[in-house]
Amino acid sequence: MKIAILALQGAFAEHQEVLESLGVQTFLVRNLQDWEQEKQALVIPGGESTAMTRIMRDLGLWTPIRHAIMEGLPVFGTCAGLIMLDDTHLGTMDITAQRNAYGRQLGSFFTQDEFAGIGRVPMTFIRAPFIERAGQEVEILATVQGRVVAARQQRQLVCAFHPELTPEDKRIHEFFLSIIRQ
Ligand code: GLN
Repeated sequence: MKIAILALQGAFAEHQEVLESLGVQTFLVRNLQDWEQEKQALVIPGGESTAMTRIMRDLGLWTPIRHAIMEGLPVFGTCAGLIMLDDTHLGTMDITAQRNAYGRQLGSFFTQDEFAGIGRVPMTFIRAPFIERAGQEVEILATVQGRVVAARQQRQLVCAFHPELTPEDKRIHEFFLSIIRQ
């Protein structure tokens, strides 16, 4: 199995470390040529969704990535990666994200909470979004303070927090691998 990691900006190296420690091959996508390699899944990391949008468009990655996900390529989006999949960005998932949703003081925080099918997991939020609307096909996987922070729609998995920043717990990445293998 080979997983593409979008590496235009943001926390891509941490995802790569977690996935490789799980014995999965990865490669970084910095341009269209990288993207064209064979892959079984895509990770869109945290970062800044406005910057990521602009760079993806400038490099001609927007439409090919959108089409690949629509055609069933499994994708895991964390934080800004969640925002990228919502209905105001790539629009492959039937969700609307609210950006920078926790206000200034609560912009970044750590907690532990329930993740459906996994149990309590560490959750690092950094100027994170939450999911303010989810369509009928979307399965809610975690809520924190009454807000939806993780969800799945078929082969698309999103977290508002950063599981790659707590690499001692790899269960969410393992869950993504199980989605790819299904
Ligand atoms: N605040 C960022 C955005 O709006 C997301 C932050 C993150 O990915 N850690 O894109």
